Amino acid sequence: MLETICETLVEAYRRNWITSRDGNVSIRHHDRDHFYITPSGVRKQTLQPDQFKKIGIKKGIGTGFANEHTTYHWEVLPYSPISTGLTPSGELPLHFGLQREMGQHRDDVRVVVHLHPTYCVAAMHAGIDLSTIVNDFPELSRYTRVAPNVPDVPPISQELADQCHHNLQLDQDGNINFDIVGIKGHGVVAIDTSPWRAFEHIERLEHICKIVLASKV
Ligand SMILES: [Zn+2]
Repeated sequence: MLETICETLVEAYRRNWITSRDGNVSIRHHDRDHFYITPSGVRKQTLQPDQFKKIGIKKGIGTGFANEHTTYHWEVLPYSPISTGLTPSGELPLHFGLQREMGQHRDDVRVVVHLHPTYCVAAMHAGIDLSTIVNDFPELSRYTRVAPNVPDVPPISQELADQCHHNLQLDQDGNINFDIVGIKGHGVVAIDTSPWRAFEHIERLEHICKIVLASKV
């Protein structure tokens, strides 16, 4: 599926949803304690599967105030000779939180896609909360659950990761209540069981945002 991720990023670039080095994607299979993430700063038009970074998910038991709780940290694992010289996407904290436990995708695959689609970002810039437009467009709400916008937090920050996880209602078991969340002044994050399914959440929301913005002219 790494090949498929590369294809979705070429298509995202073709649609102006990212500039050359933007966007990042991760993928985890339920029966593996590692996931793959796109490398930082690589042109998405020429991204190859052997350039991905392999990230191990390490569990430990910490002691909280009342109970023992599971703690997690990541470890970059060896993958391919080409990927050795690359670093993981700066949005690794965002992806790690969503990949460390897979929630409703626990028997499947989880793909997390972060892009900068033009009309989604424009709608948020215009002051529209993306979660509020679903009710007027059944073709959107039928297939895609849209979370409330995350405010304009700094890119590649733990704050961005935490706010996205919070608005997606991510719990300790990895369950989420939404398929996509927008980050004001930045982009969106979509989650599903294949690269193209996650891509389609973005495509659907982008199409509706274009309509909404056109109606306000
Ligand atoms: Zn971004």
